[in-house]
Amino acid sequence: MNARPKKSFGQHFLHDKRYIERIVASIAPKDGDTVVEIGPGEGAMTLPLLAVARKMTAIELDTDLIPGLQARAAAIGELKIVHSDVLKVDFSQLARELGAERLRIAGNLPYYISSPILFHCVEHSAAIQDMHFMLQKEVVDRMAAEPGSKVYGRLSVMLQLACKVTPLFTVPPGAFRPPPKVDSAVVRLVPLAPDQLPKGDPAKIHTVVKAAFAMRRKTLTNTLKGLVDEATIRELGIDPRARAETLAPGDFVKLANAM
Ligand code: SAM
Repeated sequence: MNARPKKSFGQHFLHDKRYIERIVASIAPKDGDTVVEIGPGEGAMTLPLLAVARKMTAIELDTDLIPGLQARAAAIGELKIVHSDVLKVDFSQLARELGAERLRIAGNLPYYISSPILFHCVEHSAAIQDMHFMLQKEVVDRMAAEPGSKVYGRLSVMLQLACKVTPLFTVPPGAFRPPPKVDSAVVRLVPLAPDQLPKGDPAKIHTVVKAAFAMRRKTLTNTLKGLVDEATIRELGIDPRARAETLAPGDFVKLANAM
């Protein structure tokens, strides 16, 4: 217990029991759920989750933390620790290996790679029932932002096209050891049902969204030059003089399909 937290691994260990309890209550694991935790660290969330789920999997990159966690978990339930970079874990394959229809993913994420982890999970969303993540509050605000908001951008659109995003509560720096410099927040992501998913090529959607937000203050005519021409944008019922930040997530799908 109480290993020296490593900055390079984004380690900020949760120690405030009230927040740990709130996170576990938000996840509300049930016996039989296939819970997978990203970055269990010393087990602040793992052990209470394991106490309810009885059996779970955790993915940890820092070898030094694994033996201690495995030992502490032994008395509580069956914990399988996968030593890996989470970005290299194929969640669809993991679900098959664990014999689960869909995974329940949770984690107090290492903030230095939080966006790549979110995009990685979204790629495997068909194998995921839900996700509960602790992130920088500023990132959660961007994920849940609506069109017109200053922080609405690529992350908001790409996540909202794949999941229902629900911010749950804020967590102050003092709940962690060492305290991060920023406020944190817990968010719930529930992948959309297949019939609610955008009908379009994900690579094209990605290209349009990236181009449209590359220069936030420019109009769509400018940012989408070479991808969708002005007349086509107008035919889709979208104002070519508008800026990306005013478009609904579904508008980007229309634009991508017109590419
Ligand atoms: N869950 C613990 C807690 O709440 O106290 C630790 C959270 S700490 C913010 C992030 C954890 O993710 C650390 O245990 C760190 O070693 C681990 N981690 C960092 N990069 C990782 C990666 N690429 N793949 C898997 N785990 C990683």
